[in-house]
This record gives sequence, structure tokens and C-alpha cells, in this order.
Amino acid sequence: MTRINFYSGADINRAAPLRRDTGWIAERLASPNARVLPVWREKNFISFLDKGDEVPQIAWMAVDTATKFANGDPSFLLLGEKDDIPYFAIDLSHLEEPESSLPHGMFLGLRDVGGALDQAEGALLSYAKGLIHWHERHPFCARCGSATEPRDAGHVRVCIKEDCKASHFPRTDPAVIMLVYKGDRCVLAHNRRNPLPMYSTLAGFVEPGESLEEAVAREVQEEVGITVGQVRYHSSQPWPFPGNIMLGFHAEAETTDIAIEEAELVEARWFNRDEIANAAQTGLKLSRSESISRRLINDWVSGLV
Ligand SMILES: [Zn+2]
Repeated sequence: MTRINFYSGADINRAAPLRRDTGWIAERLASPNARVLPVWREKNFISFLDKGDEVPQIAWMAVDTATKFANGDPSFLLLGEKDDIPYFAIDLSHLEEPESSLPHGMFLGLRDVGGALDQAEGALLSYAKGLIHWHERHPFCARCGSATEPRDAGHVRVCIKEDCKASHFPRTDPAVIMLVYKGDRCVLAHNRRNPLPMYSTLAGFVEPGESLEEAVAREVQEEVGITVGQVRYHSSQPWPFPGNIMLGFHAEAETTDIAIEEAELVEARWFNRDEIANAAQTGLKLSRSESISRRLINDWVSGLV
């Protein structure tokens, strides 16, 4: 069984030890092979390859083109490289109507194309989106309030104040996501964030001073009032909406009565294995196909717990 989830598997070398070498970065930017992924206001640049079906793919940009549309001195973020092709990302959010100048693609939300993308391309887009979101949200030093500047090809921001110079690193916030089950039944919930009934696993953020297993038990207790016993790790998924890593678990319930947290959930209930297995036929709407939530559900239905 593969444990690689969608939005991971970028299939590049991140070249972390080389990011500080400004000469090497300049040389990589000058390479005719260099490819740039533009991000505009949380959206990725996508084109469609017509194969009878509309297949989304990355609409690459050349370094020269990206420089032309950049806001003053362009800030290219190195994603990594593979087969002598360096991959960069750039934020073009300052443009008002980018698509009128860039006809070869359109800016779309990653969730609008999501699972239809090639896995490696989906992972690169997720990486670019997450990194640029972090830059956009961290223009100032959290220690002294002065401005920060990107360094190391976009993998750190450094405070410009002489007596501070604090380094700030890209964040990815851990959240636990878990399928609660007991015997032949599992708990799924309809979250208030989804206007239409869509049933998914429970999830929540890890708090300071808490293990992942404790976070699973606390969140399940808070959201549905169920006590869980054994908690087993399944796999993880980068989740750039906007900057999380989802840590997936199967959690065995010790109690069965449900008391939902109404601020967060519309409904939560026990489903039996057949109900889930026949969801497509009965119109029961489950989590998105590319999400780790769906993976946890599908693997449980298949007995892979
Ligand atoms: Zn500072």
C-alpha cells in the first residue's frame, strides 16, 4: 500500500544546502531550462491540454517573462531542481488583471483543479502556493516589528533591524485528521464550512505541549464527545489551504454516544461499512478524492487499518 498522498511527491531535489549560495542561484536563474510557477492571490497558473478531456497542467513561465511582470526587483523562490531544470516560484499578486497580459494560462484555485492534476505537478503547485502564502503573511519581524527581507532563495526571512536580525523560517502548521471507527462502523461529520452535506473525518490543530495522539483524543472528544483508545498513524498530506500539514490517523472508539460541537459541526453520525462502500450509488457525498480524509475512509472500508 502506498502512503503517498496528493499534494506530495514533487519529484525534485529541493537543493537545501545550495540555497544560500547566491552565485549558484543566479546561475540557475540564468539557465535557459529554468521554469517559473507564478502565484497570484493564492491562485496557481494553469493551462488545459485538450485530450478530448480538459486536462489541467502547470502553465510554466520563463524567467524573462516573470521578471517583466514582477513588481520591481523580482523575488524568485527556489523550489528545487531535477534533470538540470531549476524550478522557481514568483508572486505576481500586485498585477490587477494578469490574465489579459498572460494569455497562455489562467489563475485558478488549487481546489478547483485539485485531483485532476498530475501528482508531481499538484505537489509543486502546493509547494509554491504554501511558500508564497508564508512570505505574504510575514512582511514584519515577529520579535521587533521591523520589516523582514527574503534570503536563501526564499527559504528564510531576516529582520532588517541591525540589533535584531532575527531569522524567520517558513511555517507549516500541524493538524491531526482522524477516522474514528468501532468494529464495522465509523464516524463522519458534516462541517459547517461546507454549505452542502459532505461527510468527512474529524480534524483539528495540534496545540503546544501536546503529542499527536493526545491531539487526536482531545479533538474527537471536543467535536463528537467520543472517547478513543488506540490511535494508529496512517500517513500525512501537505495541505496548502493555507499552510498546514495534515497528519492522518485511524482512532478506535471506546464509546459510541455522539454529542456534537455545534459551533463547528452540523451533524455527525455512525456509518456502517456498506453505506460508505455504496456512497457513489446512493449519492452520499464524501470528502474530496484527493484529500487524506478520503484516503483514511477508503482504506478503512478496504480493511487496511
Ligand atoms: Zn526584528
